[in-house]
Amino acid sequence: MKSKKIIKFSKNYNSILSIKKSMYNDNKKNLKGILRVNSFYKKQGLRKRCKNCNFKLPKKLFSSFKVGYSLCNNCNHLNGIYKDNFKFTKWLYSDNKGKNYDSDKDYNFFNQRVKNIHLPKVDFLRKVVKTKMQVLDLGAGSGQFLKALEIRKIKGIGYEPSKSFVDFGKKALKKNKLVNLGMDQTFNTILNDKNSNVLSMICVLAHLEEPNKLIELYKKSNIKYLFFSVPLFSLSVFLENSFKNVSPRHLGASHTNLYTKESLDYLAKKNNLEIAGEWWFGADFPDLYRSLINSSNNHNMKSYKSNLDKNFFSVINELQHVLDKNKICSEVHMVFKKKN
Ligand SMILES: [Zn+2]
Repeated sequence: MKSKKIIKFSKNYNSILSIKKSMYNDNKKNLKGILRVNSFYKKQGLRKRCKNCNFKLPKKLFSSFKVGYSLCNNCNHLNGIYKDNFKFTKWLYSDNKGKNYDSDKDYNFFNQRVKNIHLPKVDFLRKVVKTKMQVLDLGAGSGQFLKALEIRKIKGIGYEPSKSFVDFGKKALKKNKLVNLGMDQTFNTILNDKNSNVLSMICVLAHLEEPNKLIELYKKSNIKYLFFSVPLFSLSVFLENSFKNVSPRHLGASHTNLYTKESLDYLAKKNNLEIAGEWWFGADFPDLYRSLINSSNNHNMKSYKSNLDKNFFSVINELQHVLDKNKICSEVHMVFKKKN
């Protein structure tokens, strides 16, 4: 029997935007960092086939921050036209070259993110899974999701390739464990796991060289559920393409490819998996807000911003909700379940 799918839309942005203040202050620095990653990515050779379905890719549709992108005719997955191979992902993640992680090494910031970003994820997951959970978390970062699980008294173990993240995050965890392990070795942990019933990969799948290989491992494992979030081809992409002086958040740097509702449906169907839960919420309008501020020509930023807030930020959740509701927002959280 097919169980009822849990579908959720939107979240409140007011608390989240205050966490990401650095996005406004560090625009120039962030933009420089992204262009540096993009230029390394461009040296990795051309991608000929779709990362999601392996069909031959058509000609590029547009370019953004010097990288070309092609939209697959078969599954509607958006592909960067270069290979995000092992060399690229290793350079980016193990060595932490891709991002400025300064703010991530602050326990106040850590706790804020656990409360505002990760606890809602855990609560959504509990609604979908219903039974007692134990979680294997891949690409665990500094362990914010593991901490949120711990707060809800759910057992979890996480693996993360960046040693500095693990050294920092370990200290914040009491029961759940965060282990430093290379991504390729991490794959074995999926097959060896005998206790977990949820495999979680928050903001990980789109970053892997071979995401489908990971789906295969999950299918072979004893783990019933796969909980993941992925970035989507949405309005944010068009904004970034037009606001050329604003550092892109969504496409570029480590985000070399983006999913769509269609490419995710394709993925579930091809692997004979059921979509047990979906939570659609994006940050397209927060991206527009940031772009407007960073591109504005004003003589008093404080007053200008307060007027923009009155005319725009005051309704930002409602605006974003329209995109979320139509499943055309910049991100989705999904729970795949093996069919009985
Ligand atoms: Zn495709």
